[in-house]
Amino acid sequence: METKTLTGSCLCGSVRYTVQGEPQRAFHCHCSRCRKSTGTGHATNLFVAGTLTWDAGEALVRHFKVPEAERFTNAFCSECGGRVPRSAAGSGMVMIPMGSLDDDPGTGADLPGLAGSLVVQRPRASRVQRDAGLKNKP
Ligand SMILES: [Zn+2]
Ligand SMILES: [Zn+2]
Repeated sequence: METKTLTGSCLCGSVRYTVQGEPQRAFHCHCSRCRKSTGTGHATNLFVAGTLTWDAGEALVRHFKVPEAERFTNAFCSECGGRVPRSAAGSGMVMIPMGSLDDDPGTGADLPGLAGSLVVQRPRASRVQRDAGLKNKP
């Protein structure tokens, strides 16, 4: 797989990051920890073999490790609660909550776990339009 540079940010925009590396796999996880940490039916995560660099707001990033879990850690912006990436200790992997991405990570062909998923096939433009629409709501 090719090396990619992916950028993203939290909900309030205070935390910004760059991940460089090779995307390995992406998937929806429906486990109870992912449901609790996102408040939704699943978490959508991308694992990249590479490095995580904070471009802004690193001091706002908090990590909550579930005490009884081996690894499960929720990384988020302490200002807005938006999830942000974290390095998976010792593995050389960065886990990116895909909803935080500001770049299109590529379509299904190179992300087998999400082939056919709306997450990677929705063009960025439509997301921008939808966001613009939301701003017009009271
Ligand atoms: Zn934030
Ligand atoms: Zn999970």
